[in-house]
Amino acid sequence: EPDPILRPDPQPEDIDRSLRPQTLSDFIGQEEARANLRVFIESARRRGEAMDHTLFYGPPGLGKTTLAQIIARELGVNFRMTSGPVLARAGDLAAILTNLEARDVLFIDEIHRMNPAVEEVLYPAMEDFALDLVIGEGPAARTVRLDLQPFTLVGATTRLGLLTTPLRDRFGIPTRLQFYTIEELELIVSRGARLMGIQADPEGVREIARRARGTPRIAGRLLRRVADFVLVEGNGRLTQEIADRALTRLGVDHIGLDGADRRYLTLLAEHYGGGPVGVETIAAALSESRDAIEEVIEPFLLQQGLIQRTPRGRMLASRAWAHLGLPQPQSAGQ
Ligand code: ADP
Repeated sequence: EPDPILRPDPQPEDIDRSLRPQTLSDFIGQEEARANLRVFIESARRRGEAMDHTLFYGPPGLGKTTLAQIIARELGVNFRMTSGPVLARAGDLAAILTNLEARDVLFIDEIHRMNPAVEEVLYPAMEDFALDLVIGEGPAARTVRLDLQPFTLVGATTRLGLLTTPLRDRFGIPTRLQFYTIEELELIVSRGARLMGIQADPEGVREIARRARGTPRIAGRLLRRVADFVLVEGNGRLTQEIADRALTRLGVDHIGLDGADRRYLTLLAEHYGGGPVGVETIAAALSESRDAIEEVIEPFLLQQGLIQRTPRGRMLASRAWAHLGLPQPQSAGQ
């Protein structure tokens, strides 16, 4: 039965599972990360040792979980998955660690959200493959060190800056994931269409790729929604015309911004003359959490050069004024 703390499988939508690349060669994009991982995996295999601990950081949906699963598969070991917020007590993590087999991959998603008491357990586990257990209470308490099997911790975070220094320092392989290029997303979308048995024109594929916010997860989602329109309103082919119609109806504009992105940009333009505005103010005005603003909305807007981060707050860039079709005030942006 499913264990809420230790989920051997992530639980994505069914189709998601079949779209998820299974090997490093199937994985599209992230060339640099992939080339490095190939070396580290091969070296660990030849030495017969656990691969060094790896940290993936970057916005959601770029492939952190997928890469962690691929690492386990390529190493030929078990994949165990949990997440920072789910590990409430030190004992939860201790139970997982003692059940690992030699060289297994333990994936901890949202590792920056781990409770400090749980994080303490992780330090000796990562460094010495050991667990320090406190036996008894009060003056009679003593610590017993328990050996663990050597394992690979793969951590994932959307917020590198929120990781404590001792935790960050214990990862031998920190890897930043980047937004995908349109060409990479085209490959991902056409592979997805093929797996779903959809006939897709290259222009239709490109339309989805251009509007996927640089993110494979969004590309997959948009593809599934467009496929619905192809089935119900189209003639069975994914064309540019039907992709455009479907995405426009879903509120995704021609550069991939969704409603939340546009509300963000419009707020800065119409209420703050383009800024600078503090992130707390933006979060309050949009009724979004500050985390959602910083982890989900802003990274893509920054990457696209639509906003800038300054010491005094966020500012709209010229490109955003143009995108909104509004005249840029003389003093705003650059
Ligand atoms: P993260 O853990 O960074 O949030 P995931 O690994 O869960 O992201 O990936 C999100 C979705 O995108 C999954 O459905 C996955 O199959 C797909 N995906 C991610 N990276 C790629 C890629 N390089 N090629 C194809 N599909 C990908």
